[in-house]
Amino acid sequence: MEPKEFKQERTLVIIKPDGIQRSLVGEIIKRFENVGLKLVAIKMTIPAPDFIEKHYTLDPEWRKTTGEKNIKNYKDKGLALPCDDPYKIAEIVLNNLKKYMSAGPVIAMILEGAHAVKIVRKIIGSTEPLTSDVGTIRGDYVLDSYEMSDTDGRAVRNLIHASGSIEEAEKEIGLWFSPKEIINYQLVQERILYDINLDGILE
Ligand code: ADP
Ligand code: MG
Repeated sequence: MEPKEFKQERTLVIIKPDGIQRSLVGEIIKRFENVGLKLVAIKMTIPAPDFIEKHYTLDPEWRKTTGEKNIKNYKDKGLALPCDDPYKIAEIVLNNLKKYMSAGPVIAMILEGAHAVKIVRKIIGSTEPLTSDVGTIRGDYVLDSYEMSDTDGRAVRNLIHASGSIEEAEKEIGLWFSPKEIINYQLVQERILYDINLDGILE
């Protein structure tokens, strides 16, 4: 891969309705700015339930992988499974997600920079806040668990969505943003992040 392509990797991040209600927008965006990622698009919207279904099923494998990931999580923790069909579990998760994600305004954004997809996933932490690492957004700012969300029959509230792979990011960006809404520009800090010789520092 050319160095130029590295720094142009893009990922989609959504601050979910609970993130906005918790007044964490600034805190969340600050973490991505701190690491050196560049904001190239941003908007606030109230997504319709059908749009959320489209978002999660852009990946035709989503139902299978989400169902299987859930089954593994329940088994690892010794918790009772709602059922053992991955597709049925994914359908429950999807219906709950449609209610969760369309409950209020969300903020969608595109972040650009080297390894954007993996860096953002590292910063947000794993899916379930109870077990997300301390220092991550999901680990530091919220306290939900699968046990609690299952008991209440709802999606686990974890403040934020971020693309899981480069392919997922490309599809999600295409769904949420038109090319006109994405801005190409330089950040002054890119000189320090990516310049090979750092030869712009001294006069
Ligand atoms: P991630 O958002 O970490 O990529 P997934 O793509 O597997 O996680 O799931 C999408 C979203 O669905 C999660 O962020 C979470 O809000 C919700 N979710 C996933 N699994 C469950 C579950 N077992 N119970 C409740 N909500 C879930
Ligand atoms: Mg995901």
